[in-house]
Amino acid sequence: MTKVLYPGSFDPITKGHMNIIEQASNLFDEVVIAVMQNHSKKSSLFTLEERLEMIRKLYQNMNNIKVISARGAAVDVALLNECKAIIRGLRSLSDYDYEVQLQQINKEISSNEVNTVCLFADKDYQFISSSMVKEVFTLDKNILGYVDPIVQQKMLIKKISLIQ
Ligand code: ADP
Repeated sequence: MTKVLYPGSFDPITKGHMNIIEQASNLFDEVVIAVMQNHSKKSSLFTLEERLEMIRKLYQNMNNIKVISARGAAVDVALLNECKAIIRGLRSLSDYDYEVQLQQINKEISSNEVNTVCLFADKDYQFISSSMVKEVFTLDKNILGYVDPIVQQKMLIKKISLIQ
């Protein structure tokens, strides 16, 4: 059985992420989505619990998709969860440069136990990023092309709670 890890901040999960998850779940026996608590990243819109809750709701009926929260090195999370590879999504050349370095380091620190598999989102989803979604939402524009209605709903609630 081949289990893979898909780590990310998912703040929030977008249709780009979901397209990568769909592809990975068709290719591998089990996909473990790891919502990472990452202190090096700028402050997040959603708390770790909120991000987890949204993703769990989206995949509640999928038997081969598991959602966990984690911190630290993705390779350690992969080893702990018996995942043979880390899934990364590629959007652009700038993603590529970073991912080349990352996969090499991950291979080295895991003594070649954890590999990296890069997937490309389908063309309609390639340009979507969490930061772009937040930007468009701030401008009061419709984000349903970029996120699931569950996420849009949570963003509306978040906006109201931030105003109050
Ligand atoms: P972001 O980079 O948008 O802040 P994450 O850290 O949550 O998002 O990303 C997790 C992984 O998903 C990374 O490998 C990232 O490159 C990938 N990813 C995010 N959006 C897309 C997309 N639209 N197409 C392909 N891969 C994507």
